[in-house]
Amino acid sequence: MPRQRAAPHGREGVGPVTANPIVSTVPFDRDGKFHGFLRLPYSRDDSAWGSVMVPICVVRNGEGPTALLTGGNHGDEYEGPIALQDLALYLTPEDIRGRVIILPAMNYPAFTGARRVSPIDQRNLNRCFPGRPDGTVTEKIADYFTTVLVPMADFVLDFHSGGKTLDFVPFASSHVLENKAQQAACIAAVKAFNAPYTMTMLEIDNVGMYDTEVEKQGKIFVTTELGGGGTATASSARVAKRGIRNVLMHFGILKGSVALEPSIFLDMPDHNCFVFSEHSGLIEPVMDLGEAVTEGDVVARVWASDRTGLAPVDYAAKRSGILMSRHFPGLVQSGDCVAVVAALAE
Ligand code: ZN
Repeated sequence: MPRQRAAPHGREGVGPVTANPIVSTVPFDRDGKFHGFLRLPYSRDDSAWGSVMVPICVVRNGEGPTALLTGGNHGDEYEGPIALQDLALYLTPEDIRGRVIILPAMNYPAFTGARRVSPIDQRNLNRCFPGRPDGTVTEKIADYFTTVLVPMADFVLDFHSGGKTLDFVPFASSHVLENKAQQAACIAAVKAFNAPYTMTMLEIDNVGMYDTEVEKQGKIFVTTELGGGGTATASSARVAKRGIRNVLMHFGILKGSVALEPSIFLDMPDHNCFVFSEHSGLIEPVMDLGEAVTEGDVVARVWASDRTGLAPVDYAAKRSGILMSRHFPGLVQSGDCVAVVAALAE
């Protein structure tokens, strides 16, 4: 079979022509509602001229701000995909002014595999930015966001949760940014999302993250951690659905006004928030999410998993605050994040 020709793929679709081989089957500049795909050519054993089909919905009604809404950046986090499927089904052009671009499963191969990273190239999309147009499947997806989708947006919301290995109190967050006007706009949007907790987040390692690329492009960015354990709950799905409509109202894209409910403000001032295990074994949670923590309190202990008669190793909080995140599975490995303690703010 002849090799797939290096055609100008973009011309086959209705999206822009770029160096990236991804073709959009939906238009970005027409009024109306369009369901379709970002089609990424992916030649492989079971499909010589096959594609990765990333679902996308675009809703547009005249001039106005653009919101870019994503879930499934990590494939084992579910509140975002649920809320975005709901929004894509029910949002109509008449409801809005401007444009809403919805991708419930940004890293679609990871999402269908129920995995954090892509089963195709073992890459974590959220460590691949800005991406490469001639890279692996995940790098091409990252590049399409960097060069096509993010530049269209005024506001970007990327849903996360803890996935299979972490669990969080439900929060929306922004980051500390050098540009204080941009940071203030991000904080206002996070407050409008109005999750039960509102956070200023410190990343362990922000190199290659979607967040970092979006913020570098000067956009207003909100992310979330709404639960975890590789599933969603009724309440975490509700938080996601409500938050998304709140931020669209905040930007004047969706009609209506935000009715704020109480939210607890948290801060991550430094790396003392994180507690990492230096042992492998059986983890015993000593505190539950949302509980008040005093510096020095034991938050978890690790028992030997292969013998009896050994005392457990205690892991203590290095700061006071509340337990905002914990390791989820019952077994822990050396180097795993056991717990995160956030400080109460405001
Ligand atoms: Zn995530």
